[in-house]
Amino acid sequence: MTSTAIIYSKKFLEHKTRMHCENPLRLEVALNSLKKFGLISPEKCVVVEPRIATMEELKLVHDESYIEEIKHFSVSGGGYYDGDTYLSKESFEVACYAVGGMLKICDEIFKGNFKNAFGLIRPPGHHAGVFGRALGASTIGFCLFNNIAILAAYALQKQLAKKILIFDFDVHHGNGTQEIFNNSPNVLYISFHEKRIYPGTGFEDEIGIGEGKGYKINIPLPYQSDDSIYLKAFNEIVLPVSEEFKPELILISAGFDAHHSDDISSIQLSAFIYNEMTKQMVKLSNKYCNGKLIACLEGGYSHDTLSKSLPATVAALTQTEIKIDDRKPEAPNYTKNKAEETIKNIKKKLNQYWKI
Ligand SMILES: [Zn+2]
Repeated sequence: MTSTAIIYSKKFLEHKTRMHCENPLRLEVALNSLKKFGLISPEKCVVVEPRIATMEELKLVHDESYIEEIKHFSVSGGGYYDGDTYLSKESFEVACYAVGGMLKICDEIFKGNFKNAFGLIRPPGHHAGVFGRALGASTIGFCLFNNIAILAAYALQKQLAKKILIFDFDVHHGNGTQEIFNNSPNVLYISFHEKRIYPGTGFEDEIGIGEGKGYKINIPLPYQSDDSIYLKAFNEIVLPVSEEFKPELILISAGFDAHHSDDISSIQLSAFIYNEMTKQMVKLSNKYCNGKLIACLEGGYSHDTLSKSLPATVAALTQTEIKIDDRKPEAPNYTKNKAEETIKNIKKKLNQYWKI
């Protein structure tokens, strides 16, 4: 019961994307790095094969017309679905395995077979909304079905948990996840992302709608933000709000594209901050959720981040230490000042909902 499950299958390599940065090699690098750090062992992490998700399960968050469109586009040969997103003939089926893997592990965890889990899955999901493109985004950003959102909806529907925290540290705003749960007070969604990059949403004043007001928290951080800025925002916003919310299940949209080695953004985190944030999330899960925490891969494209930030995160899930060698870039002063201002603004906007 003490071990962490890693959802992985060679099937995930069959979503072939040609010369794309979101490619099958990412997962091979990721899995090898877990092996290299000795994290794959019966006491630490056990690899679990996914199952396929059903149409009904995909429909927990997506409109049937969108699911059918992706299915048809994929099985009839694929190609570029939009300016960012490439599908091969196998992509629809692979995406169904990615979702199904997350749902399978959710059941296993609630049966008590594993403590927590990391989904080493692809395609990623957090940009996919009800009808695909979410909140006015130009594309679905390499995502087909919203793995983490379907998992949250599944756990709510099966009454496994009434209050779910989704913490998203991918460098992009999870516009799909926000859209899906925008009016829900049952899902607290907190996103760290770089300000003003794709998909162009996730401003401080997007706090949810209707009954969901206050339950969507966006922390857009400026160009070249570093570990110390993330840590400040984490300690002053993410932790106190999560403590007050008292989740019954914690989910993490774990994208590693905010690392300094990843060219897709200018944020320059080190592997150490992923370790620290995950340790704190594990602590929270032990306090409120009987340890139940499920993370899954979103972005993260450089092999350096996949072989450092990912094992740093998984080691935190197993509550063991590994020795990681990484540099810690420092943000320039103007970035620090801007970030400070943003954090202050967010706290001011949210203090009618939370004690921050
Ligand atoms: Zn991303």
